[in-house]
Amino acid sequence: MVAIIVHGGAGTIRDESRIPKIKKGVGEAVLAGWRELKRGSALDAVEEAVKALEDNPLFNAGTGSVLTVDGKVEMDAAIMRSNLEAGAVAGIWGVKNPISVARKVMEKTDHVLLGGEGAVKFARLMGFNDYNPTTEERIDQWKKLREKLLNDGQIPHWKKISELIREYPEVLRSTVGAVAFDGGEVVAGTSTGGVFLKMFGRIGDTPIIGGGTYANEFAGASCTGLGEVMIKLVLAKSAVDFVRFGLTAQKASEAAISIATEHFGSDNAGVIMIDARGNIGFAKNTKHMSVAYLNEEMKEPYIGV
Ligand code: ASP
Repeated sequence: MVAIIVHGGAGTIRDESRIPKIKKGVGEAVLAGWRELKRGSALDAVEEAVKALEDNPLFNAGTGSVLTVDGKVEMDAAIMRSNLEAGAVAGIWGVKNPISVARKVMEKTDHVLLGGEGAVKFARLMGFNDYNPTTEERIDQWKKLREKLLNDGQIPHWKKISELIREYPEVLRSTVGAVAFDGGEVVAGTSTGGVFLKMFGRIGDTPIIGGGTYANEFAGASCTGLGEVMIKLVLAKSAVDFVRFGLTAQKASEAAISIATEHFGSDNAGVIMIDARGNIGFAKNTKHMSVAYLNEEMKEPYIGV
């Protein structure tokens, strides 16, 4: 059964007045993907759905990405197909849609992952124009959080940042991802600005094949949350392996998230999945995760946070 699911990130949305806009954002993205899926391509569907989320400044990917500790945007993205073709970019800047650059890495190079300067250079070669994804809202947020970090008298490092994230869980809410099945193949894609105040050069789970993004002949998965958790647990691949060993997409999602909780406590992980028959699954150990999905049997998308 043809199907698509998207997420707009896992975390806690403290300002609940933002929920309708977030729901609208994931709803629009799932429909953008669906239009492509109806034309027959899960690959185009995932790219278009993720692009719609990257272009929405509400979400922490593309336009509206969070800033590093030194005030820069460094974005990560990956896309992967059932046949194990994969492309990813890490720490890229100056482009509007990292997911599209990731797709070009998959289609036009012999590599899987390009990082930093090289990824930007490759994007220019592929015709992606210079674009500044930084928004005023993110600069304000960066100033406030950085001040707090400095006033606390701590040198920024990950343990401290993790504590801050626990204090401000809403900043984890907005990595984006999509997984689609077109009747033939499953494709998974993820895109993010990362975690706020991350160190320069920090790469999260999103572009790590098997960490935040994975697809094979059994299923596809896109993760969100604290990237270090997903990388250490190879969570996207683990979720897909659960399907391989007989779990439904829903049970596999739940099993993957329970591993994250078991090792690192709650408030750090979410996953969306589709298996190679079009069954959907999603799970989280955070308070919220914006999700929208649609399949052939549904008249309109399910949208939830
Ligand atoms: N997983 C992303 C990262 O660690 C962040 C997120 O999902 O919000 O870069």
